[in-house]
Amino acid sequence: MKVIDHLRQAKGTLLSFELLPPLKGKDIRSIYAAIDPLLEFKPSFINVTYHREEVVYKERGHGLLQKIRVRKRPGTVGICAMIKAKYNIDTVPHLICGGFSKEDTEDALIELNFLGIDNVLALRGDATKGEAQFIPERDGHAHAEDLIRQIAGLNRGKYLHEEEEEAAPTDLCVGAACYPEKHPEALNLSTDIAYLKRKVDAGAEYLVTQMFFDNTKYFEFVDRCRAEGITVPIIPGMKPLTTRKHIAFIPKTFHLDLPVAFSNELAKCRTDEEVKQVGIEWGITQARELTARGVPCLHFYTMGRSEAVQAILRAVR
Ligand code: FAD
Repeated sequence: MKVIDHLRQAKGTLLSFELLPPLKGKDIRSIYAAIDPLLEFKPSFINVTYHREEVVYKERGHGLLQKIRVRKRPGTVGICAMIKAKYNIDTVPHLICGGFSKEDTEDALIELNFLGIDNVLALRGDATKGEAQFIPERDGHAHAEDLIRQIAGLNRGKYLHEEEEEAAPTDLCVGAACYPEKHPEALNLSTDIAYLKRKVDAGAEYLVTQMFFDNTKYFEFVDRCRAEGITVPIIPGMKPLTTRKHIAFIPKTFHLDLPVAFSNELAKCRTDEEVKQVGIEWGITQARELTARGVPCLHFYTMGRSEAVQAILRAVR
């Protein structure tokens, strides 16, 4: 079932979870271990992230370094198909522009269609490590908007290089990303929202936010989007902080602020366990307020760790 249909039929705030594929060489049991403890909350859908190739340098002796490209977390589509078959839960594979030509994209979409997967989250992806800016493939997309246009075209039966009138259309529900604290490359929130509107006009039926820790930023962002004519559901993304490493890593990596009340509590923590407890308490407060204000769905970035998400949801559901 499509995410947009879940949202339209919902009687209250839905739940969804996001997982990342295991590192290459690890087996699928880590995915079961991430999903099983969360089944009690009956998620409406589960997202699985996509990870492009990275450039790594291997020591080859005599001071020689070999530059190779490695996809460290393959398996997005296979994991989605497994979740549907094993758990009967709808899935949302992420699809990015980076590393994909338009033909590669079309092949990937045809595969999703044949597997009976109804959804896709269309993203640009980040620059490859070591590159200063995002560089699209020679015949690829430079922005998520262009990828969304290709998916919307395929949903109308418009295949690349095909003139056939009778081509079978796909029927994929397309979501896109948005950033309450603005995308790091955007000049300001106004230009970011203007581009966001173009993604929606191109065919995105709902949006999922980057994680945030200050609900006010989400509510203000939704108001600004509505004022600019973006009417689709905007799903808030949540991530419980659980380690001391997170405190430094998350604001820097995702370009977001931790509210003062939260950072004051985190500053008192001496161990990861203490951070986890503070992160859970903060998550509970955030989730309660978002639910009380009637958000369409709570989307949790689990990163494969379900304990803190489980604790938050046991407190609020
Ligand atoms: P875009 O919408 O293309 O925007 C990128 C930047 O360009 C923004 O600054 C925007 O303002 C600007 N812009 C947008 N359209 C145009 C235009 N037409 N012309 C000029 N400028 C424009 N990354 C992964 O690699 N894999 C994942 O699975 C993944 N999942 C994610 C899930 C969510 C919910 C979120 C919020 C992010 C995810 N990301 C993922 C990260 C994402 O790929 C990066 O944040 C990336 O830098 C931007 O992607 P986007 O789709 O928002 O890009």
